[in-house]
Amino acid sequence: MHDLLADRVAGFGTSIFSEITNLAIEYKAVNLGQGFPDFAGPDFVKQAAAEAIHADLNQYAPSPGLPRLRKAIAAQWERLYERAVDWQTEITVTSGATEALANAALALCNPGDKVIMFEPAYDSYLPDVTLAGATPLPVRLHPPDWHFDPVVLRAAFEQRPRAIWLNTPHNPTGKVFRRDELMLLAELCQQYDVVALSDEVYDQLLFNDAVHVPLASLPGMWERTLTINSIGKTFSVTGWKIGYAVGPKELNHAVRQSHQWVTFATATPLQDAAATALEQAAVNSYYDTFRQEYDERRVLLERMLTEVGLSTLAMQGSYFLNADISALGFTDDRAFCRFLTTEIGVAAIPTSAFYIDQNDVPPLARFCFAKRLETLAAGGERLQRLKS
Ligand code: PMP
Ligand code: GLN
Repeated sequence: MHDLLADRVAGFGTSIFSEITNLAIEYKAVNLGQGFPDFAGPDFVKQAAAEAIHADLNQYAPSPGLPRLRKAIAAQWERLYERAVDWQTEITVTSGATEALANAALALCNPGDKVIMFEPAYDSYLPDVTLAGATPLPVRLHPPDWHFDPVVLRAAFEQRPRAIWLNTPHNPTGKVFRRDELMLLAELCQQYDVVALSDEVYDQLLFNDAVHVPLASLPGMWERTLTINSIGKTFSVTGWKIGYAVGPKELNHAVRQSHQWVTFATATPLQDAAATALEQAAVNSYYDTFRQEYDERRVLLERMLTEVGLSTLAMQGSYFLNADISALGFTDDRAFCRFLTTEIGVAAIPTSAFYIDQNDVPPLARFCFAKRLETLAAGGERLQRLKS
């Protein structure tokens, strides 16, 4: 059977999220692994989808996305970042951020190209650039504050990469890249003529005083940055798979060249509902409530983990917390997460799954707090078993 697989996918394993979720189901564990909310999205968003279906918005959308949604995304950029975006040429709607990421890799990279990515890296980046025949150039983020070494970053640029893949707020670490870090990145992209892809799906999930700086907003960067986002995270509807790419016409054209043959278009009624979500959220204080509720969940999870000897690393954004497993005597995070899921009844993701180079990986487990307070509390009760 192995012979059936084309070389480009032969090395792909199963996504760690599917693996851990399946294990969690098998062992009836509280699933704090895969990042998805276990609570319902807001009524005004669900209602909009039901209405769109009943209004018969059920045929193909234009390939780049419904005009109404693209206009709502443009309005969002104007409101948040004071950037006038041309909805016709500078925005493309895709089936989730995942599709935008894959199509960007396929449309921007040639076989043999190099792509810088910070490591740990969100799990789809490596397969995406591999599908395009490109090679990753990993640059480490170092715990506990997840800083990078500017000398190492510059050395990566000196290898003449085609592109850099950024993710801020960052999955799995929760790091929000600071303006000075992004300024250096921007300077290097311009010096070495490198294209940037910036995955900002957690741009609305910020804690304490963290500020999200879109890479595209820095001087000289709009022209060379494709920013990717997703409705799934911000409106707690990850199953809708509505993503989008924002950037200059040339980069959108590239993504569209691939998008038209991969999916052609994205689910029409859900695009219409996503437009309502963005339009309404801009005026109904949805984002404030969203952040407050997540902050409560974050604080609870952090307390639960610390109490059982799993101290957490500082984070500023996203819905993930990383806990140091070494105090419990574990060095292998995969063995720890398997043990935690099957013996303790709480599922978490081994952070090493986000590393390309498995040498000197810190012993961490990633916990997701996009869960009801009751779910977190149930997980907390089970975690107490670690003490016995
Ligand atoms: N990028 C990051 C950093 C993510 O965490 C996720 C999903 N959790 C995605 C992209 C994929 O988003 P979508 O579900 O819209 O495809
Ligand atoms: N992005 C989610 C996470 O980090 C999972 C998405 C998926 O399962 N593909 O957990």
